[in-house]
Amino acid sequence: MQKYELIPLQLLREGVIEEGNLFVPGMLDEDDVLRAHTKDYWERLRDLSLDPREIRRTGFILDRALVDRESSIVQGTIESAHNALEHGLSFNIAGGTHHAGSDWGEGFCLLNDQAIAAQHLLAIGLVERILIVDLDVHQGNGTAEIFGTNDRVFTFSVHAEKNFPFRKEKSDLDIGLNIGIGDEDYLEILEENLIEVLESFHPQFVFYQSGVDVLQTDKLGHLNLTMNGCALRDELVFQLCKMRGIPVQVSMGGGYSAELRFVVQAHCQTFKKGIEIFF
Ligand SMILES: [Zn+2]
Repeated sequence: MQKYELIPLQLLREGVIEEGNLFVPGMLDEDDVLRAHTKDYWERLRDLSLDPREIRRTGFILDRALVDRESSIVQGTIESAHNALEHGLSFNIAGGTHHAGSDWGEGFCLLNDQAIAAQHLLAIGLVERILIVDLDVHQGNGTAEIFGTNDRVFTFSVHAEKNFPFRKEKSDLDIGLNIGIGDEDYLEILEENLIEVLESFHPQFVFYQSGVDVLQTDKLGHLNLTMNGCALRDELVFQLCKMRGIPVQVSMGGGYSAELRFVVQAHCQTFKKGIEIFF
């Protein structure tokens, strides 16, 4: 979890953000959780009583601190979504826990932060149509499952097809990429499909899961994006939303390059690109 401490430090050091731009999330309301997760799953997660098989699936050793941390991240994304509505763009320095489904945790995800925040915005009537753009190299299977029959949320996932999760859920639009795809092909596919979704669905709000495990240096990704290609990816998402006046909430997602500095650099450039384009 070291990257989550390093990202804000790096952004402060480079003057990309100031202390006053950072916020500490408040307490998560259970009603928000229950709009995306089942009562049974949430209560057993909260009470640390998931069964051993379910715990193994999360990849974590489950304890109080971990559940509290995840709850704080989720609340961070809810508050970040409100900030985005107010200012156009807002980030969670963590989050993007897209493998958590309505009644399961998986792949280091316990609660689905952007799914919960999307349901929150819809429930209080702030927006009617939400697009979730998930560009983490792994499919956003939890998000896809949670919004399976919900026509107010469009789920769009661009991921490596032959990668975890091996049993995928059905997003509204899934682009399963071949192993080893590079900048040019990736950006062309993304641009074409994202424009098509924006023009046909007309979202009023975008949640962006900006996982940097698409990098060629990533141990788990199997794609071949350069650091610059990853920046161009972020730029494309931000530009297409900004020009249509759509607010964007960003959660970080995965990043597993052997050298941590590449992970931090890639996440920081997501902030830089967004801030450059929106403000
Ligand atoms: Zn990932």
